[in-house]
Amino acid sequence: MVDYQKIFDDIWNGISVFAGVGHQADYIPALAKVNPDQFGMCLQEVSGAVHTYRQADERFSIQSISKVFALAMCLSLKGESLWKRIGKEPSGTAFNSLVQLEVEKGIPRNPFINAGAIVLSDILITELERPEDEFLGFVRELCGEPGVDYNMDVAMSEREHGFLNAAIANMLKSHGTIVNDIERVLMFYFKMCSVEMTCRELAAAFMAFADRSPFCFAGYSLTNSQIKRMNAVMQTCGFYDEAGEFSYLVGLPGKSGVGGGIVAICPQRYSVAVWSPRLNSKGNSVMGMKALELLTTYTEESIF
Ligand code: GLU
Repeated sequence: MVDYQKIFDDIWNGISVFAGVGHQADYIPALAKVNPDQFGMCLQEVSGAVHTYRQADERFSIQSISKVFALAMCLSLKGESLWKRIGKEPSGTAFNSLVQLEVEKGIPRNPFINAGAIVLSDILITELERPEDEFLGFVRELCGEPGVDYNMDVAMSEREHGFLNAAIANMLKSHGTIVNDIERVLMFYFKMCSVEMTCRELAAAFMAFADRSPFCFAGYSLTNSQIKRMNAVMQTCGFYDEAGEFSYLVGLPGKSGVGGGIVAICPQRYSVAVWSPRLNSKGNSVMGMKALELLTTYTEESIF
C-alpha cells in the first residue's frame, strides 16, 4: 500500500524551493487578486480513498480545466462527428494563439486550446436549451458537489479584457466554424472557465475518467472507448505548448488551467488535482507541475 501522506510530505520538501517562482495569471484582472502563495493537493484512489494536503479544500478558478468537461458533453452529444469541426493534434503554440488558426482556415488544432473550446461552447449552445444550467449540472454531478458554481466577477473580468479570445471567435466565425452569435458564444466560454472548484472536487470529478465504471452523469454518457480517447487528447494536448514536457516529466494524461490548477489521471489507479497560482511562462503552475513530477517519480507509477 502506498503511503500518500508521506509522499505528499516528501513532495512538499522537494517543491518548496520553487515557492515565489512565477506569478498568477494577471491578464485576467480578477485572477491577479488571488493570493499566489497557496498550494493544495488531493489524490483519490479508485477504491474511493481520498488523500489531501494543505489547501485541498480551497476553491479556485478552474479555467481551462473546464474544457475537459465541455469536451465530454460534446462527445456524448455528437460522437465522432465532433472531429469534423475540431482537430486532435497537439498545437505546439500558446493556448490563445491566432497564427495557427489563420493558417489552418479556422479549424482549431484541438479542443483544449482556446479556439477549440470556443467551438465546444458554440456546439453546446446549438444543442442545448439551457447550456449554462446543463454545464453546471454536469460538473456538479461529476464531483458530487451541488455548491460548485460560476464566479461571475471572474467571467466579467475576462470578458472586459478578453480581446484575444474575441479575435479568435471572430476568426472562427469568418470561417463558419462557429454558427451562433459571437457575444453569446464568448460569454458562455468565459463562464465555463470561471467555475470554481477545490482540489478535492476536481479529483472526484476526474475519477470518472480514471476508472472503468459506466460513465453517465446528468444524462451524458460516454463509452469506455470514448473515455480512452478523452485521455488520449489530455495526454497529447492538455498542457498547451508544454504537453511534451508534461508527458516527459509526469507521464500521465491531464489538463491545466491558468488559475493554477492541474488535474491528472493514472488509469485504474487514481485521479489527482493540484493547485498553486504561480504560473510559468507557458501558463502552467510551477509548483503543480513539479509536484506531479515528484508524485510519479516517488510512486514509480505512470502510464509508461
Ligand atoms: N479563460 C482563459 C482564457 O481564455 C483560459 C486559459 C487557460 O486556462 O488556459 O484565456
